[in-house]
Amino acid sequence: MAKYDFDLFTIGAGSGGVAGSRRAASYGARVAIAEAVRVGGTCVLRGCVPKKLLVYAAHFAEEFEDAAGFGWSVGEHRLDWARLIDAKDRELDRLNGIYVKLLRDSGVAILEGRARLVDPHTIEISGKSYTAETVMIATGGWPSLPAIPGIEHAITSNEALDLKVLPRSIAIVGGGYIAVEFAGIFRAAGVAVTQVIRADKVLRGFDEDVRQFLQAEMVKKGVQFRTATRPESIERTATGFRLVVDPGEAIDCDLVMIATGRAPNTAGIGLEEVGVALNKKKAVAVDEWSRSTVPNIYAVGDVTDRINLTPVAIHEGRALAETLYNSNPIKPDHTNVPSAVFSQPPVGAVGITEAQAREWHQGVDIYRASFRPMKHTLSGRDERTMMKLVVDRRTDRVLGCHMVGADAPEIIQGLAIALKCGATKRQFDQTIGIHPSAAEEFVTMRDKLPEPVAKAAD
Ligand code: NDP
Repeated sequence: MAKYDFDLFTIGAGSGGVAGSRRAASYGARVAIAEAVRVGGTCVLRGCVPKKLLVYAAHFAEEFEDAAGFGWSVGEHRLDWARLIDAKDRELDRLNGIYVKLLRDSGVAILEGRARLVDPHTIEISGKSYTAETVMIATGGWPSLPAIPGIEHAITSNEALDLKVLPRSIAIVGGGYIAVEFAGIFRAAGVAVTQVIRADKVLRGFDEDVRQFLQAEMVKKGVQFRTATRPESIERTATGFRLVVDPGEAIDCDLVMIATGRAPNTAGIGLEEVGVALNKKKAVAVDEWSRSTVPNIYAVGDVTDRINLTPVAIHEGRALAETLYNSNPIKPDHTNVPSAVFSQPPVGAVGITEAQAREWHQGVDIYRASFRPMKHTLSGRDERTMMKLVVDRRTDRVLGCHMVGADAPEIIQGLAIALKCGATKRQFDQTIGIHPSAAEEFVTMRDKLPEPVAKAAD
């Protein structure tokens, strides 16, 4: 008889946990997965998927307006927000069903309830105990809120995705992925949006030109920014809420949304009790094989706070399954991971920023283009696109590709393959463009910017 009930016990049925569990089961491992809420996790239920559906909805606002420039007469149109949320919920139910079916079809046992480690090989869930040779922690993250008076009045992205009624005005605190994405969704839906950021620009960590360019485009669309400003307190008023900010000002609005980052879900699952060390940010500390300080306990995805993106969690989960159950050792690869922000207009980026390149490389050449997309010659919309290449002068290798503009995520995905292959600027130049497209600009940028390149794109 087997020593343990399962070979692998996964805690958390989000993107990383599901992918790793299914891959392990496909190699014959006996796998169980525990989920406290619903199978699917943040990406499917409270993140990427519902957000992108709302982004699609938001785009129609400008499409209706732009159509006039192309000869269309568009009749009366308005957004029925409640109908949109209903449609989105039906799609999430469908996806949840697919995830459950995929797990069952792979032979993975689904256990509903909150799991807690009792010892490194024993997991308790809903009063029952299970044993497993290996444990994979994949519990993801949760919005983290600043400890200010009245914070209980604020919503997070969790609630923003489920609003039954659209507010007339919203104050969004934060300048990261979530804040800019929701600012775009709400603004397109006609909401008055004030974005409160403690820095001078959105999207810390992205290339400076991207940060500046996106913010300028968001301003054109009507998002109001309060920069170098921090939230102090939230009060309820007769008509809505008052967000008091430093320096001593107040923003009156229907709703306050907080998007100030996410924290790993490591509390209450017995991790530290069984010897799993957490790092300063309370994430599970793992080595390059995703192994925690307890040899049979591994962790993947946002709970490890490496690169908090769904495809990275999936990659980490599958790499672990390959290593443990297919004699195919794979260390997760975190280099040249492309990412996108589904703002309006969207951002796509792969590789390093100009600032990083200047710090880490001897000589750096910068190529940058900013232009009015062809579509807007007829639509008349005042929206521009920016593209940028960061090149290592010594090796000619392209170190970073950055874009703000329509279809940036779709375009950057392809360029990520080129960077993974170590493409040089010369190879970019040798590539024939697709005309007319915006993407062709990436293979036709000839003139490097003069040094020093301190000025941002206009
Ligand atoms: P981010 O870490 O991206 O951004 C957090 C923002 O909040 C920053 O602008 C930060 O300011 C600000 N902030 C942090 N603490 C405070 C505070 N106490 N007071 C005021 N402002 C504060 O977090 P998000 O919540 O936007 O997203 C979480 C993660 O989810 C992302 O890092 C990303 O990995 C993932 N995600 C990915 C998406 C995608 O791929 N498209 C979409 C959505 C989320 P400062 O810049 O000054 O530090």
